[in-house]
Amino acid sequence: MIENALQFSHTLLAEVLTDHDHVVDATMGNGNDTVFLANKVQPHGKVYAFDVQKQALDKTKQRLLEDGLTEQTKIIFDGHENLKNYLAENEPIKAGIFNLGYLPKSDKQLITTPTTTKQALETLLNHLVSKGRILLVSYYGHAGGKEELTMLDNYCQKLPQEQYNVLRYQFINQKNRPPILFCIEKNVTIIFLKSS
Ligand code: SAM
Repeated sequence: MIENALQFSHTLLAEVLTDHDHVVDATMGNGNDTVFLANKVQPHGKVYAFDVQKQALDKTKQRLLEDGLTEQTKIIFDGHENLKNYLAENEPIKAGIFNLGYLPKSDKQLITTPTTTKQALETLLNHLVSKGRILLVSYYGHAGGKEELTMLDNYCQKLPQEQYNVLRYQFINQKNRPPILFCIEKNVTIIFLKSS
């Protein structure tokens, strides 16, 4: 079976993650991505996980405790738009994931927004290392979802191909607007040294 957007986001992350990488879960929710990332970067790496709802933090903390993954995870009760306040200057980040929209079985009014998502994405791109990847899973069936998808399409299409490879992954024959996955990969930096 072809992987859906969520499954493929983890496949693309697993390809590049090692046990000492620093990574960001921009939308913690029920902790599925946080737990996945913490497993991949343990024991030497670090996960920064953000959410603006206390219930998301409580659920994720519980799951990390059960799996013995609290050591390498920093749980942050703040919006991902404030990411820059939590990273050291020039801190190398290997990967990030945004699972956009609202928390399932929760308040559908509390959603990620184009402005704050873009802010977080820009900070993350500044810290992303060569071969690093950012995954964004966009749901566009709910109120506000289309605007966020439009922002992502516009933003991603404008990223220069000399610096980034950008993928848009989507089933085009499925009902109920399945999520669309974006993957932004930073190209390897090649430095040409002048011979004297
Ligand atoms: N990745 C999650 C998981 O594995 O369960 C699902 C995330 S859910 C689709 C989206 C989450 O984004 C919600 O929990 C919501 O509270 C959170 N959110 C909304 N605005 C946010 C913001 N500005 N910063 C961080 N999280 C935000």
